[in-house]
Amino acid sequence: MKNHQSESEQFHELRRKAEEFLDKNPEEMLPENVKNLVEELNIHQIELEIQNEELRRIQRELEAARDKYVDLYDFAPVGYTTVSAKGMILEANLTITAMLGVERSLLIGKYFSGFVTEDTHDVFYFHHRKLFETKVRQNYELKLVRKDGTRFDAYLKSVAVEDTEGNITRARTVITDISDRKQAEEALRERTEELERSNRDLEQFAYVVSHDLTEPLRTVSSYVQLLERRYKGKLDADADDFIGFAVDGATRMHALIRDILAFSRVGTRGKPFEPVEAEHIFTEAMANLRVAVTESRAVVTHDALPSVFGDASQLTRVFQNLISNAMKFRGEEPPRIHITAERKGRKWLFSFRDNGIGIDPEHSDRIFVIFRRLHTRDKYPGTGIGLAICKKIVERHGGRLWVESREGAGSVFCFTLPVQENKGVPK
Ligand code: ADP
Repeated sequence: MKNHQSESEQFHELRRKAEEFLDKNPEEMLPENVKNLVEELNIHQIELEIQNEELRRIQRELEAARDKYVDLYDFAPVGYTTVSAKGMILEANLTITAMLGVERSLLIGKYFSGFVTEDTHDVFYFHHRKLFETKVRQNYELKLVRKDGTRFDAYLKSVAVEDTEGNITRARTVITDISDRKQAEEALRERTEELERSNRDLEQFAYVVSHDLTEPLRTVSSYVQLLERRYKGKLDADADDFIGFAVDGATRMHALIRDILAFSRVGTRGKPFEPVEAEHIFTEAMANLRVAVTESRAVVTHDALPSVFGDASQLTRVFQNLISNAMKFRGEEPPRIHITAERKGRKWLFSFRDNGIGIDPEHSDRIFVIFRRLHTRDKYPGTGIGLAICKKIVERHGGRLWVESREGAGSVFCFTLPVQENKGVPK
C-alpha cells in the first residue's frame, strides 16, 4: 500500500509539473512524443486509482473476516487456549475466561496448571509433555478450578502448533465443560448399583423363601397323597374330588417353587464364562429333549453355529427351553424348527424359527414376564417361567432376547450374544 501511495504522490507531482508546462505551452504546439507521454500518464493514473480502490476493498473484506473470526473465537461454545511449552497461557478466548471466572488479562501469562486441581496435575503434565515430545494430539479429562474455588470436569483436546522449521512452539487446546455429562454418568452408575443391589436382594429373598417353603410343602404333599391312597373310594364322591384338588394344588405349587428357585439361581448360581461351542450346546439340548422330539415327530435343523463365551449349562437351558416351546406350541403339522446364527457387528444373532401357533404381537413383551402365559394349563401345560429364565440368562451374558411373530404364522425367537474377538467365526 505504502509503495503505491508514494508512487501515486510522485505521479501527482509529475502531473502538476506537466500541467504547469501545458499552461505555458498550448497543446497543439507540443511535440508528438510529449503528447503521447501525457496520454500515457493519464491512463496510468486511471489504472492506479482502480488498483487503489481494489486494495481498499480487499482491506475492508479482511477487516470484516478478522471481526468474524474474533467473534467466532471469543464466543465459541468451547474454550480455546494456547499454552507454551513451559505451561504458560499465551492466548485465551472469552469462553474459557467465563468457565474459569477469570478476566482475560489475568489469565494470560499465568501457568495453566494453576487452574488444574491437585489430584489431576499429573494427568495434565503427562499429556502436555507427551504432546511436545511426540506432536501427537492429546485428548484427556481434567478437573479445573474456578477463581471462586469451585471445580468442574473438563475435556481437553490439544494439538501442537509448529513454526516454519517444524519446531513445536505451543499447544492449542480446546476445552469443554463436561460436568453435566459426568453428573449424569455418576447418577446412572449409582442407580445401576442400587438396582443391582436390590436385584441381588430380591434374588436372595426368592431363593430363601422358595427354599424354606419346599420343606412344609413336601409334608403337605406327602400327607394329601397318603390321604388319597388310603381313602380314595372310601369316603363320598365329593371327598375324592377335594383330595384330588389338594394333590393337584400341592403338585403345582411344587412346580412353581422349583421354578422360582431356578429363576433366582440364574444370577446367584451362574458359573464363570468360558468359550463354548454353540454346536455342542445344541447337541446337549437335543439329548435332553430326545423323548419329546420323538413323540412330536419334530424336525430340528440348524446352520453352522459359532463358538461363544458363556455358561454352557445356562446356554443349554436357553436352547432347550426355546426348542421345547417350539414343539409344545405346535400347529397341525409336525413341528419344524430351524436354528441359525448370524454375525451382526460385535454380536451374534441366534434365531429359532418354528411353524407353530405363533403369537399375537400385542403379547410379544408379556410372554417374557415370570409366570405370564397366554393359554390355560389344560391346553398347554407349563408354569410360564421358561422364557423369563431364558431372558435372564441371555441378559447375564450381555445379550437381548425377543420374539418376532404373527398369530398362526409361526414364531422366530431371537437372541444376541457378544462376539468374542478372534473367536466364534462359524465354520
Ligand atoms: P410356558 O411354556 O410354561 O407357558 P414360557 O415362559 O416358556 O412358559 O412361555 C410363555 C408363553 O409364551 C407361553 O405360555 C406361550 O403362550 C408363549 N410361547 C412361548 N414359546 C412359544 C412358541 N414357540 N410359539 C408360540 N407361543 C409361544
